[in-house]
Amino acid sequence: MSRSKSLDQLLEEATKHHGHFGPFLVLGVRLALFAEESLGIKIEECFLEVPKTIPTLCTIEGVEAIVGPGRVKSRDAKKISGTFRGRGKVVRIHVRDDVVDEFQSKCRRHYEEYLESIVPHAREVEVRSSGELFELRNR
Ligand SMILES: [Zn+2]
Repeated sequence: MSRSKSLDQLLEEATKHHGHFGPFLVLGVRLALFAEESLGIKIEECFLEVPKTIPTLCTIEGVEAIVGPGRVKSRDAKKISGTFRGRGKVVRIHVRDDVVDEFQSKCRRHYEEYLESIVPHAREVEVRSSGELFELRNR
């Protein structure tokens, strides 16, 4: 499915929805867009596994900004992955562990001091290729 809005516009909306701009918010937006792309349709519902601590928690609202509030369920986990469904199709996507580790530690260093300091890291997530961020899982 292709969207009429640019990634920048979608990220702006996601930032309003979430309250601030950061790497895991961008990761959530990218994850949901990659799921749409993989299925070729709009996502109707999604189940996320995500460490429910700052900053990885922000992933949930990034996905929500694309899929729609009320369509995203989640549970606490050690790693980040999502199961996305639409029109009877399903795709399971895993966020690469090294990506999660990398941005968790980049945020840990800066998060409490200045939210502005994580903006460059959010931009890094924005420009990475889907292949560098995600793995498709069949299940
Ligand atoms: Zn956040």
